[in-house]
Amino acid sequence: MAMAGDVKKRIERLRREIRRHDHLYYVLSAPEIDDRQYDALFAELKDLEAAHPELVTADSPTQRVSGRPLDVFSTVRHAVPMLSIDNTYSAEELRAFDERVRRQLDTPEYDYVVELKIDGLAVSLRYEHGRLVSGATRGDGEVGDDVTANIRTIKAIPLSLLDGDAVPAVLEVRGEVYMPTRSFVELNRMRTEAGESPFANPRNAAAGSLKLLDARITATRNLAFFAYATGEVSQPLARDHYRMLERLRAMGLPVNPHIQRAKNIDEVIEICLAWGPKRFELDYQTDGMVVKINRCDQRDILGATGRAPRWCIAYKFPAERAETVVESIAVQVGKSGALTPVANLAPVSLSGTTVKRASLHNFDEMRRLDVRVGDTVVIEKAGEIIPQVVEVKTERRPPGTKPFEVPKKCPVCDSEVVKDETGVCVRCPNPQCSGQLKERLRYFAGRGQMDIERLGASLIEQLVDRGLVQGFADLYRLRKEDLAALERMGEKSAQNVLDGIEDSKTRPLWRFLAALGIRHVGGQSAQVLAEHFGSLAALREASREELEAIDQIGPVMAESIYGYFREPRHRAVVDDLLAAGVQPQTEAARSRAGAFSDKTVVVTGSLENFTRQQAQQAIKDAGGKASSSVSKKTDFVVAGAEPGSKLDKARELGVTVIDERQFMEMLSGRAN
Ligand SMILES: [Zn+2]
Repeated sequence: MAMAGDVKKRIERLRREIRRHDHLYYVLSAPEIDDRQYDALFAELKDLEAAHPELVTADSPTQRVSGRPLDVFSTVRHAVPMLSIDNTYSAEELRAFDERVRRQLDTPEYDYVVELKIDGLAVSLRYEHGRLVSGATRGDGEVGDDVTANIRTIKAIPLSLLDGDAVPAVLEVRGEVYMPTRSFVELNRMRTEAGESPFANPRNAAAGSLKLLDARITATRNLAFFAYATGEVSQPLARDHYRMLERLRAMGLPVNPHIQRAKNIDEVIEICLAWGPKRFELDYQTDGMVVKINRCDQRDILGATGRAPRWCIAYKFPAERAETVVESIAVQVGKSGALTPVANLAPVSLSGTTVKRASLHNFDEMRRLDVRVGDTVVIEKAGEIIPQVVEVKTERRPPGTKPFEVPKKCPVCDSEVVKDETGVCVRCPNPQCSGQLKERLRYFAGRGQMDIERLGASLIEQLVDRGLVQGFADLYRLRKEDLAALERMGEKSAQNVLDGIEDSKTRPLWRFLAALGIRHVGGQSAQVLAEHFGSLAALREASREELEAIDQIGPVMAESIYGYFREPRHRAVVDDLLAAGVQPQTEAARSRAGAFSDKTVVVTGSLENFTRQQAQQAIKDAGGKASSSVSKKTDFVVAGAEPGSKLDKARELGVTVIDERQFMEMLSGRAN
């Protein structure tokens, strides 16, 4: 079969190309091709692999995301412990560290490497013969969590190291998984809009994302990575740290570009102090610098004390706080009516930006702090991004202030507010509230939803205030003359806005669903719903049971969706949008015709002809859903060798059990 050989060659070539472009894009930030060209390569590889599942290998770029959520992480014992680092907070302390080093080495002949201390999560990656075989969190330094499936989704981490004869058979790479600031801000924006609580800082977001049991969600989180050390290696890479990092870089691993050598402690201090203000220009968070002795033999002489090495020290930047005065306290209305307090501040410079507002989170928090208008407050940027009030200087409170009262009426529409069961959340119950409407419209037009270009907050404000828009569908009825009459709106920009709105008529169904602002339904659940039901009509008529039967839709969300489409007001909103010409696009149900069409299949035990991942991919390609746990919803259990408790469970529940031969027959269409 000459054909099969050609396919294999083509697949290998595509993989090499995609890896090269991943490296150019994610590690070197120097792409050679645009997204469309990249997507075309990727799509071709995926199609070829789908047609030839026997050629799928674990290090193929298509295999970054596994479709199998875990029940729990297994643990990994680090072959070489991951030590922690002692902290210093001043130049004097750095000099004291240097004196200890000099005394112990008994020579002035040593140099340093100074690195940014990236605020993320330390991990250890294990490569065997150049292939990524596992990834683990630091844990307590001795034992960490096996997060391999999640690590594999991070595009900056190569699944196989760049070709070269010198990659050791065993190479453990240590480094930091982090979330770029931009991704963090975007993630929090989406979480807030979906009614989920935002992450406090990028480190929490990175840690939370890396410890998700479902790697498919991790894959959406835009995590990144910098390598900075090695653990177990079968062959040392270099005699000093700096050259070791260069070797890692040459293997395709991302190494921070700002790493510097320093001849002595004076240079170290100079570098550390310079990064204090400069760090805010970076697209990731750092909370300090790490200073390391460069030469490996000298590190050995210095050794370690307890849990921290003596050849390494961290310098922490001073915390970024500022004092200012609360000029007023405003109450904002959210898209579902939730009222939140915000402090308007006398402008103050903090972490390189001018801050004029700070979040007070909720009325409970505000009462706890007892923030009043006129108070001098200390603000801090949580993770140096979202400013918040952390302290009130009550001793400097001017006379005659009064505690801020939780509003009894909506500041926009004057309706009496209602409190939820916990008493923390205060809401405006008026569905006609223009404050809520503006927020809903902003969300509807937002990037994660209908993505309407040029329809920003100030335009929405005007459209609502002038009564031109009273609901989503009114956007699609706007005329050029309506817009041209608005402030700062010429004919040309009016047309641009209309074009943007027109474009949004044919967004995919999931965007449409996300845009409706159904409680608890964010972009991800909207995608699950769109994929499952295939059409808006089917989703609208879905029963509670049908919704709950979907794997990623919990009972609360199911109830919320079901309730939404039963409410006449909401049905009218949807009908109105359709009547205004919005046509949510559904992907033709591609794989419905496969052998496992709409079936949930669980694989247990080991199969001879498939890795677990390949088996799951084969199930998906045949239209089925691969699940990891057996329940009443399971249609088939594929039992391999040493199947374990899932097989017992399947028998107990009366689920059809098939063996590998039957599984392959079904895949090839020879059985049903
Ligand atoms: Zn209101």
